Amino acid sequence: MSAVLPRHGLIIDGAEVATAEWMDVTDPGTGAAFAQVAAASPGDVDRAVHAARAAVAAWRATSPVERGQAIARFARALDAEAGRIAELIHREEGKPLGEAQAEVARGCEVVHHFAGEAERLWSAFLPAGGGGRGSEVRPDGIGVVAAITPWNFPVALVIWKLAPALAAGCCVVVKPAQEAPLAARAVCEVANQSGLGPGIVSCLTGDGPLVGEALATHPGVDKVAFTGSRRVAEIIAGWASPRLKALSLELGGHGPLVVIDDADLEIAVDVAISQGYANAGQACYSVNRVLVPRALEQAFLEKFRTRVAEVALGPMATDRGLVRHRDLLADARAKGATVEGGEDLGGARVAPALVTGAGPGVRLVDEEPFTPIVAVMPYAALDDAIAEANRPDYGLVGYVCGHDLRRAIDVAHAIECGTVVINGWRVVVPYAPYAGWRGSGIGCELGRPGLEAFIRWQHVRVLA
Ligand code: NAD
Repeated sequence: MSAVLPRHGLIIDGAEVATAEWMDVTDPGTGAAFAQVAAASPGDVDRAVHAARAAVAAWRATSPVERGQAIARFARALDAEAGRIAELIHREEGKPLGEAQAEVARGCEVVHHFAGEAERLWSAFLPAGGGGRGSEVRPDGIGVVAAITPWNFPVALVIWKLAPALAAGCCVVVKPAQEAPLAARAVCEVANQSGLGPGIVSCLTGDGPLVGEALATHPGVDKVAFTGSRRVAEIIAGWASPRLKALSLELGGHGPLVVIDDADLEIAVDVAISQGYANAGQACYSVNRVLVPRALEQAFLEKFRTRVAEVALGPMATDRGLVRHRDLLADARAKGATVEGGEDLGGARVAPALVTGAGPGVRLVDEEPFTPIVAVMPYAALDDAIAEANRPDYGLVGYVCGHDLRRAIDVAHAIECGTVVINGWRVVVPYAPYAGWRGSGIGCELGRPGLEAFIRWQHVRVLA
């Protein structure tokens, strides 16, 4: 007889709610279920949205200072639970514990940041004539937000929506990915326990298409904030757009690293290794193509091979990721490219792969791999490297390595990505926007623009 697994209910209107249906949460390293989460029905979606609507008028009417203080209490409560939440990510997603701890620590910083931003939400009064006449221009929370998030950064991508939305005065219904729901649910639980009122933050675990459709078509939802694949983004946009809901779509990338001829190759290799293989390649900001001057190609590869031999990856989080990894490498080989590494190691683990001799038409340089594959592509002139960087229809994160900063910044400006990192690999800070350009999305998260994404503006014109 199988052991009874611990069950985690929905969070609706500040309370834990059991459901008729439950879904297993599995450890990708062993394939064994270790917990169950509630599977929300369309009726549960309706209850959560109604609770959010009931709460939103009072929440958006709180003063910015009051809201900031409430979010700061949430941030401190999250700090206290960071270790437990990182363990959950490690268990349900297979992310190495150190990477999981870093994800939660950075997430806590984002909540602290938006606690401060809430307090800095100013209205303006533009006087015209005397006696109090003029124009008040004031920010107002957009309303009820549905946050639909993926499994690869299950905590960060909830927080990037939740924290600025709360700061703006919105209520949020979170729909985590079914592959990794526990850590995201724990964040919502902590938000409720920290004293945010009922209905302000809800969490609906369950089937993606079922809960996603019920949320994105619900008349009580004002905005859908989605992070995930382009395929699902198009489906969600098809539901939300005709209903004129605000929409943000944060999608995949195909990260280019442009190595300029005066680059420090140690730094370039460090960036390629760190960002090519972080989270077993299952990161939207991955380096997927390294564009290196032909004259430096062999020196780069020599250093890269030394470093890649030291890389040990966690298990792939999903079976479809494993299958895609094999398929992409088979496609590259069939088209004449050379693949080093990449083999199956058992227990859902694969070795990191290095691919040379791949060009347009080879799938792994045309479409987001989302597996641990780095392609090294030599170039003749810097303009060719920039053209290749911008060739696939993605524009999330790019990287540049070069000694002359003016040249490196010129290249960064020519790369059509929402974020470009020069001479290093740390991408995200709470105070700067993270945006997908072109096929990588619509809108942005983090920074001041990431707060304004949850704001609607009102002009109150006082004439007499
Ligand atoms: P996904 O699109 O399969 O799922 C994302 C969310 O949508 C999940 O909550 C899922 O349950 C839900 N969903 C799935 N099918 C649905 C449907 N038919 N209708 C409504 N909702 C549905 O994505 P994933 O596999 O979880 O995540 C991987 C993708 O996310 C990659 O492309 C990655 O690059 C991207 N990503 C982007 C960013 C960013 O900030 N731009 C960050 C992380 C991941």
